[in-house]
Amino acid sequence: MHVIDRIVNEVDRATDEIVEFTRDLVRIPTINPPGDEYDACAQFLGDQLARHRFEVEYVVADASEAHSTRYPRVNVIGTRRGSHDGPGVHLNGHIDVVPPGLGWTVDPFAAVVRDDRIIGRGVCDMKAGIAAAVFAAEALQRAGVELPGRLEISGTVDEESGGFAGVAHLAQVGRITKTRTPFVIIPEPLNVDRICIGHRGVYWFALTTKGQIAHGSMPFLGVSAIAGMTEVLAAIRRELEPALHGRLTAMPVVPDGARRATINVNSVDGGQHVDGVQTPCVADRCRAVFDRRFLLEETFECAKDEVMALITKALKSMPEVTFELCDLMVVDPVRTPDGSPVIGALDGAIRRVLGSAARLVASPGTYDQKHFARIAGIPDCVAYGPGEIELAHQPNESCAIADILNATKVIALATLDLASR
Ligand SMILES: [Zn+2]
Repeated sequence: MHVIDRIVNEVDRATDEIVEFTRDLVRIPTINPPGDEYDACAQFLGDQLARHRFEVEYVVADASEAHSTRYPRVNVIGTRRGSHDGPGVHLNGHIDVVPPGLGWTVDPFAAVVRDDRIIGRGVCDMKAGIAAAVFAAEALQRAGVELPGRLEISGTVDEESGGFAGVAHLAQVGRITKTRTPFVIIPEPLNVDRICIGHRGVYWFALTTKGQIAHGSMPFLGVSAIAGMTEVLAAIRRELEPALHGRLTAMPVVPDGARRATINVNSVDGGQHVDGVQTPCVADRCRAVFDRRFLLEETFECAKDEVMALITKALKSMPEVTFELCDLMVVDPVRTPDGSPVIGALDGAIRRVLGSAARLVASPGTYDQKHFARIAGIPDCVAYGPGEIELAHQPNESCAIADILNATKVIALATLDLASR
């Protein structure tokens, strides 16, 4: 039998194991924030990798701000050396999931199976993807394939909150490098026939406007910081939003609306706390947090200058109001190079397994590809995995078992192709 058929058969034969392993991962409630059960989940994944003949290491990001004894930031990496111990492939999945939120009709951590789908928080984003990576590697082994290059599988923390104690940490300490593994696949849920080649940039900033407190019965004696913020918010709606809407990226970002630059007002907080006892005062402070997504064709510096100019102009009519702008998070856009072997290998595998060509997409948000590209210096990185992106972070999040099996096959075949280069 041809090696490809043997690998595909081994995935099919492992169906029950793959389903049960995915469900076991979902049953460990690795909710972030605050970072529950990371230790237990990393250990569970590490034990499975050890059973699959990986050498397993645990890397704790104990210097990270998010790390504490109560909520340790534990990452796990398994390495299986190839016959020539050459450079190879890294498969990475984040073990954290977002809080379940409201609206569930089943227990979000019971991993219920219904209509050939597994239901649970984090099943699609991205514990099914981790299972696909683990069993892609196992199917290669069971099919008697020995890769020339090394294969690494990591389970990392905190992707949902920026990935700084996860992939960024492993790249910073030199545990993920281009020399070890020049090719990276992140099995995030971008749909089983799509390859995700990067994401837009992110600029989160906080704006504080400051006025002067006075008695609320004589507001003309004070300066309202809320009135100042209102001027800025109005300018954003009237001027910035239409300008951003006019900018279209050449990257294939999905959904279509996200091909344009965007800004969102994440929160506004001014004056006395609305739920507290009120005393009559003019608000001398107002704070808002903004989420600006910028395109590959823009730069962070331009995005920030534009915001600065807009605020200054908006507050011209209120010279008594002062303001402070504080950068909270900056992520540059990333894009896998055209013609990257990792795109070619996955496209070939998708054609074999699903019988049709892959579609290239880019993410409207951001994910750990930025850390592989910028810190580890690995441009040949993409996201490809089981699950529908629209279901991520939703109530009754679920993933089709057929998708998990297909993604497992695709990742196994692509890994064989890449590790043999
Ligand atoms: Zn994810």
